Amino acid sequence: MTDEIVVIEGDGIGREVVPAAVEVLSAFEFDFEFVTAEAGDATRDATGDALPDATYERVADADATLFGAAGETAADVILPLRKAVDSFVNVRPATAYPGVDALRPETDVVFLRENTEGVYSGHEDRLSDDLSTLTRVVTSSASRELAEYACEFVEDGRGPAGDPDEGFTVAHKANVMRETDGRFREEVLAVADERGVDADEELMDAFATKLPLDPTQYGVVVCPNLAGDVLSDLAAGLVGGLGLLPSANVGHDNALFEPVHGTAPDIAGEGVANPTAAILSAAMLLEYLGHAGAADRVREAVETVLAEGPRTGDLGGEATTEEVTAAVVDRL
Ligand code: ATP
Ligand code: MG
Repeated sequence: MTDEIVVIEGDGIGREVVPAAVEVLSAFEFDFEFVTAEAGDATRDATGDALPDATYERVADADATLFGAAGETAADVILPLRKAVDSFVNVRPATAYPGVDALRPETDVVFLRENTEGVYSGHEDRLSDDLSTLTRVVTSSASRELAEYACEFVEDGRGPAGDPDEGFTVAHKANVMRETDGRFREEVLAVADERGVDADEELMDAFATKLPLDPTQYGVVVCPNLAGDVLSDLAAGLVGGLGLLPSANVGHDNALFEPVHGTAPDIAGEGVANPTAAILSAAMLLEYLGHAGAADRVREAVETVLAEGPRTGDLGGEATTEEVTAAVVDRL
């Protein structure tokens, strides 16, 4: 059966790293149909709309989407697209690789971030000249759905340790936000208990101290929306280099994959962007579509190239995006 993959390059280095990722996907003989779609600043300038309906619908109807980056229209593009794939979890691995200068080279964690509610649910109001408020939304259903995903993730050995017995850590602030984070914590731990998955908990502020001091204490980390956003960026800082980090927005029967970095306007158009984050996003896409073996091969190829070169400028090398991509494809 053909899998339809929507490809959105977007702006800036998205136009350079997404083709690199497609080249890697094309190195396999899978039955993929790539459908290109437009979104971002350039699309807005050309059509008046950063996210045309046609793009939204293509993404909603696809099997998976590979997205690059959007410039100043990022929020207008990526937030609706996450809705288009009905994403309830944002998956963000932070892995340090040999050969890459990292603050904490032993870091290997995966964040599973709630992707629909919390303080990002959009319920903000300006009530007067002096007062603005935000309503924080936490449902048992979304918390349980995230926890079910986390349990499956751990059971399938997809955590950094590859060992289901490692379980996961839930980070929260239920001692202060007793109602909202209290509900989140309770539901996540209850699901883990029902499924026999080992789960421990950590207050998110304590976690923010302990992670950089000793990242080896953690593997899979489950978080509410805002906490996941901040804590996964903290972990990104430990592994060195925005050019390395992939992410996935996973929904019920659809998903969107994107590098964590943005459009990198300072180097865009020069052909020197690091394609690693986009290629690792493509590896997550392969795994999502049921090609776990191929995904592992991509990760191994990337790891070898990071260790042995060629490397792009952000990692101290002089290679172009094309040269690094060719080296990865060669390794495959
Ligand atoms: P945006 O508003 O689109 O996020 P930005 O200016 O914040 O743009 P980022 O893409 O977030 O830029 O990147 C921040 C810094 O990291 C920039 O200096 C950029 O060059 C560098 N960077 C990000 N991604 C890569 C990459 N793939 N390869 C090399 N350098 C990168
Ligand atoms: Mg940025």
